Amino acid sequence: MTDVLPIAAPERTRAILKAHGFRLKKRLGQNFLTVPKVLARIVTAAQLTEADDVIEIGPGIGALTEFLAGSAGRVLAIEIDSQLLPVLADTMAPYDNVQVVEGDVLKLDLPALVEEKLPGSTSLKVVANLPYYITTPILMHLLQSDLPLAGLTVMMQKEVADRLTARPSTKDYGSLSIAVQQNMHVAVAFDVSRKSFVPAPNVDSAIVTLTRRAQPLAEVTNQESFDKLVRGGFAARRKTLWNNLINLYGKTDAVKEKISLALQDCNIEASTRAETLDIPAFAALSNALFARNVR
Ligand code: SAM
Repeated sequence: MTDVLPIAAPERTRAILKAHGFRLKKRLGQNFLTVPKVLARIVTAAQLTEADDVIEIGPGIGALTEFLAGSAGRVLAIEIDSQLLPVLADTMAPYDNVQVVEGDVLKLDLPALVEEKLPGSTSLKVVANLPYYITTPILMHLLQSDLPLAGLTVMMQKEVADRLTARPSTKDYGSLSIAVQQNMHVAVAFDVSRKSFVPAPNVDSAIVTLTRRAQPLAEVTNQESFDKLVRGGFAARRKTLWNNLINLYGKTDAVKEKISLALQDCNIEASTRAETLDIPAFAALSNALFARNVR
């Protein structure tokens, strides 16, 4: 009887964990979803069709994987915890379109893995309930990889979702908002209560969708200089942009003169704070500094 229930149904989750003698590991961010309705909403938010192949990071015991298997073409699930592999072999046995790979997503060569496991893929999406202790590194790893991702639908702490979607002149706006929004459309699909997980984490969560922009939001002459400026601009949030810039590039008169001219090129006041600058303003300043050899 229990086998007809979704894996995420609390009684089935409990039975699976018990049958395998599996103990949840806090250090690996193992908070498993036990509300099938939430999983169905995640899959709807990801707008999956059979033409889509999905990478899932951290399948756990397969709660989300089961829903993905029913909606996508192929599913490649990457799990770090070797003790979950026999559990997944059991729960995923009915699904012939799911492959499970053991590994740390941050250390894997994802394009090579996709070529090997999902040959001929024409549409690749990431759908995952991310381990919260490494949400930002995973997002940056995925976005900086050469994977041709059509979109990501990912669960994360609400606080990180707020930073990803933040607009200028708000407390959550910072280098992460800019790094992501420069190349992706980002939106919160819906919030998820901490009560939906076993064990319940200390924070509420949100499902965030990220889709690649046809073009970056703003044209950047040199990506490295842009990244450096964005990180350095927010190094000390309470300081003025000027103070952050001279700490970043140097305090000699020659450098100060060039920074001053670059700010004038872009009509930006030295006394402004980085959090008031939108992405096109950051790009313009980065391009002006780069053109004046301030790097
Ligand atoms: N997908 C399941 C669910 O929704 O119930 C489990 C999600 S749980 C929040 C995060 C999962 O990520 C765990 O299974 C954990 O073992 C796995 N994980 C943690 N760090 C990882 C890493 N570096 N690479 C791959 N998987 C990881």
